[in-house]
Amino acid sequence: MAGLYIHVPLCVSRCIYCDFYSNTDRSVAHRLVDGLCGEMRIRQSYLGAETVRTLYLGGGTPSVLPVPELERLFQTVASLFKLQLEEVTIECNPDDVTPEYAAALAALPVNRVSMGVQSFDNADLKLLNRRHSAQQAVEAVENLRSAGISNISVDLIYGLPGQTVDAWQRNLDAACSLRVPHLSAYSLTYEEGTVLHRMMELGKVKPVSEDLSLHFYQMLCASLKEAGYEHYEISNFSLPGMQARHNSSYWDGTPYLGIGPSAHSFNGNSRQWNVADTGRYLAAIAQGAVDCEVERLTPAEAFNDRILTSLRTARGLDLARLKSDFPQFYDKCMLAAEVSIKAGHLQLAEGENVLKLTPEGVFVSDSVFVDLMQV
Ligand code: SF4
Repeated sequence: MAGLYIHVPLCVSRCIYCDFYSNTDRSVAHRLVDGLCGEMRIRQSYLGAETVRTLYLGGGTPSVLPVPELERLFQTVASLFKLQLEEVTIECNPDDVTPEYAAALAALPVNRVSMGVQSFDNADLKLLNRRHSAQQAVEAVENLRSAGISNISVDLIYGLPGQTVDAWQRNLDAACSLRVPHLSAYSLTYEEGTVLHRMMELGKVKPVSEDLSLHFYQMLCASLKEAGYEHYEISNFSLPGMQARHNSSYWDGTPYLGIGPSAHSFNGNSRQWNVADTGRYLAAIAQGAVDCEVERLTPAEAFNDRILTSLRTARGLDLARLKSDFPQFYDKCMLAAEVSIKAGHLQLAEGENVLKLTPEGVFVSDSVFVDLMQV
């Protein structure tokens, strides 16, 4: 089984915190879709005999694509790959999801929508340069449900400059009241090269303290637990049985093919990064090639990937499998794990066969992971 990801690097405007590859020149949309379809044809055999189980259109903002362009993408996918699609997700900006657009999505092979809501506070949305309002986010959910799409995920960001505990709780309450099956929440990060990072350097915004950020995360976990959500990955929560299948495949080592400028692919042995430049990307596709970098994974890199991806999830790290796949690294890793277990950051579960982060360990997960990894 495998996943297929299609990156649509187009946005109407740029959010100040974003470091994803995307452009605001949407006149390229038709040529871009030509290129995406061309890359799918070139790389049709990348996944070998694997059946594609999940399809994800991300970005950027795929919902800026006119419906006929989306239709072309789906037709090309159907004509080239062996499909047994269980989940087909498209990322949408809330103000694109009008009743008409929701109905058009429902007529496509789309059965899940992920929306970058980020906040239910209009002042936050203005600060972040999001183009929708809180009310539009609520209406988008209603429009999708009316059109028959109920599998909806909402993204939130916490730790905004000046955000108070009360303001974050209001956001959490608003999100829970929507009863969408899936929620993702991320702490605001100040990535170099973003407008937000520049604002911080100029003293125009001040990051929240680590303690407050931790408190926001604890509020997130507590509120969503009380609302019946399962915390199945560090940043992801779902109602029972509604975990994101495509994203879960990134964490369990399932191969995936990433199509489009800046898209990543993984086939079990190597990773591949497409060039993050639409002009160069399209020029290469026109020549029948893909402008990309390929990195063959060494055993140590594959081991580190296993540590990073497994421990992010509530399922944890299967120790018998780890020992059998990486006997050369296992003992050293377990020595380091013992230190983290004593510190209360890791725990053994399921008859000592599985290693998991404790709730306290989640807050310091990066350093826990580094201690277990091969350097
Ligand atoms: S809409 Fe999404 S991809 Fe586009 S700039 Fe904003 S965060 Fe980045």
